[in-house]
Amino acid sequence: MRSAVSRAASKAVEKRNRTAGEYPYWQTMREQAHAVKRRVMENLDDFLLQFEEKCRENGIRVHWAQDAEEARETVGTIAAEHGVKQVVKSKSLTTEEIGLNRYLQKNQIEVTETDLGEYIVQLLDQIPSHLTAPALHLDRKDIGRVFHEKLGVDYTEEPAELLAIARQKLRKKMLNADMGITGVNFAIADSGCLCVVENEANARLSLGVPDVHVAVMGIEKIIPSFSELDTFLKLLPASATGQKQTVYVDVVGGPLFPAIGEGARNVHVIILDNGRSRILADPQLRETLFCIRCGACLNICPVYRQIGGHAYGWVYMGPIGACLIPQYNGISAGRHAPFISSLCGACAQQCPVQISIPHHLTRLRYDVAKQGYTAWWERYALKLHAFLCRYPLLYRALTWFPGKLQQLLPGDMRFPAPGYTRDRALGRFDSKGFRRRFLKMQRQQDL
Ligand code: SF4
Repeated sequence: MRSAVSRAASKAVEKRNRTAGEYPYWQTMREQAHAVKRRVMENLDDFLLQFEEKCRENGIRVHWAQDAEEARETVGTIAAEHGVKQVVKSKSLTTEEIGLNRYLQKNQIEVTETDLGEYIVQLLDQIPSHLTAPALHLDRKDIGRVFHEKLGVDYTEEPAELLAIARQKLRKKMLNADMGITGVNFAIADSGCLCVVENEANARLSLGVPDVHVAVMGIEKIIPSFSELDTFLKLLPASATGQKQTVYVDVVGGPLFPAIGEGARNVHVIILDNGRSRILADPQLRETLFCIRCGACLNICPVYRQIGGHAYGWVYMGPIGACLIPQYNGISAGRHAPFISSLCGACAQQCPVQISIPHHLTRLRYDVAKQGYTAWWERYALKLHAFLCRYPLLYRALTWFPGKLQQLLPGDMRFPAPGYTRDRALGRFDSKGFRRRFLKMQRQQDL
């Protein structure tokens, strides 16, 4: 897993950097996007109401959902209304967030993910391990094995053959589906349109082939008008996959347009809160709602590259996931997430909407500590450290001591560190101590 993630992430960073470098005004676009998101968040209620009104004018049925349960039930009611038995879905983390697949299956509705990566993780009964590349943790041999075991086809690791197998299976599902469910990348307030960007045409088919289309969007997906869309349509693909443009940009402005004959006959949009208003209420942390889910911060993150997306334990992962998990799930349940970061700042440099991720992580760490969710021994260790820092002589003696003590012990004996040493060896203390080594390095630099 580690090598598959690291390899894929490095390639994505390389492509992203190359494409961003081709835009002489890249930084200006980032600033514009940040300003748009700030304006939207500061006036979100007005934009949402405008969006609702325009959608209704366009013939799109609007539903509001306070939480995951309400959103799931709304989908269930729409499905019952239209006698839906089979659903195709196109990549939508928001529907992962509300656990929609399990709900539909429990209600005897067959649901199939149509994005290739999502389809693979669905076969494995896993959640995506990346925001834009759900099966990033698997290489083609893994995928060959999954198809062989779950679909009963001959083993192959040839990408073209794997693709042909998936395409054949998904085509049937697509043609038989009664309902298509998609996410929304950008919801355009002044015209009541839904924009979905993608590369595989699975979203276009999901929202166009079945009779019913349900789009599930978080309240933060709003942008004011088509004028701002241009900037986001450059920033998102470049940051996500290093493309200058995605292959498909789908815009839904209402149900089937008879003159053209394209689209679903019934279009519904579910506008989901699920904790976002709470995040919005915090003037600092609301910036984490600016995220356009490009995944660039994941690709560059040295921690994500080592542990992969599943280690975060929820649908949002990587640096932005580490910010969102405690905010959506509560500080108690998400107390570990803000600490899954080296705080190196690379994520903030990559982020196309300039979210100061390390800043928010330190704030969330503070909240975790302030509310008493850190381990007791950690609190005492830090208190001890603070005490020792006030007495430099004592501090130096104590940092000198472990190295010297270690010299008296057998060569291969390691200091026990429960938990840490379960899966790896703890290195030996440096016999010189940090301070002496640091002073020596400083002297060498001064020469
Ligand atoms: S925080 Fe920024 S870099 Fe990370 S996924 Fe969101 S928009 Fe992309």
